Amino acid sequence: RAKEQGRNTYQFYTEGMQDREVMRLELDKDLSKALANDEFVLFFQPQLDLESGDVTSVEALIRWQHPRRGLLSPVEFIPLAEESGRITDIGRWVILAACRQLGRWKNGQCRNLRIAINLSGLELNDDSLVDHVRNALRSEQVDPSKLEVELTEEIFIQNIEHNLNQLSKLRQLGVQLAIDDFGVGYSSLGYLRDFPVDLLKIDRSFITDVTERHDDAVITRAVINLAHNLGIRVIAEGVETEEQLQFLRDHRCNMAQGYLISRPVPARDLEKALAKGILSTGLPADL
Ligand code: C2E
Ligand code: MG
Ligand code: MG
Ligand code: MG
Repeated sequence: RAKEQGRNTYQFYTEGMQDREVMRLELDKDLSKALANDEFVLFFQPQLDLESGDVTSVEALIRWQHPRRGLLSPVEFIPLAEESGRITDIGRWVILAACRQLGRWKNGQCRNLRIAINLSGLELNDDSLVDHVRNALRSEQVDPSKLEVELTEEIFIQNIEHNLNQLSKLRQLGVQLAIDDFGVGYSSLGYLRDFPVDLLKIDRSFITDVTERHDDAVITRAVINLAHNLGIRVIAEGVETEEQLQFLRDHRCNMAQGYLISRPVPARDLEKALAKGILSTGLPADL
């Protein structure tokens, strides 16, 4: 009986794995056609400057408008794209799409907005990345300081020399560099000395309970002070409540991003919200 149960469990397990594997393969096949079919889209999430109360930048977050599965989040396909190597081409699309958007925004009410894009460590491996960024900025005639690149601490663990070289070249172009999800990686703080960092993004996991938990509050304050003493600006991600926003203001955090201010939205929705002024202070205009 035990044997039978064991076998059933085993079968159940492998069937589950096979399902997942089939779905993964299917998704990967679809992914190979997604670029040609123009199925990717950038959503934009505002980043609020706490000193001026203005939205000064937006983070570009990729979505996949899948022909059958609907709008897919990057967590559902970026890891897959990294495994298959398609991430390089997707990343190139993101860079070009962000520069095109900056080009379209050059003369309107959005002319001061910067765009932050996410690059994974694998994308940094690509030797022609810097050329691609330079060409995209040139072809859209965009001021390089309008583009910001968000990288996670993984890039400070492997290929350090190569990554430092890539980041230095990007910085020389005039592109800003941000460390994403700061505080949850496994790297040392030494990279803050060795790499040309402009901005630290405090990971959402510290912000969620920052007004309830003493330890999160201490860590958040320490990161803000550390950054400021190094001449680096700080942004908090995952801000969902007024109390969190007030805490960040009180402790001189430079910027805030999160659902309280806005979810990631298509460019058109962002333009409308900015035109109505409903994003300027993180509060509806007439409250
Ligand atoms: P990330 O760069 O750390 O982006 C922040 C994620 O948190 C986004 O999820 C955003 O929608 C979500 N978020 C923002 N504010 C809040 C909040 O107040 N509460 C909560 N609970 N969540 C919030 P999203 O868009 O699903 O992106 C997930 C991750 O996928 C990103 O994490 C980034 O690592 C990656 N990603 C997104 N776009 C790209 C891309 O173009 N290229 C690459 N390589 N990775 C990307
Ligand atoms: Mg990011
Ligand atoms: Mg992040
Ligand atoms: Mg993240």
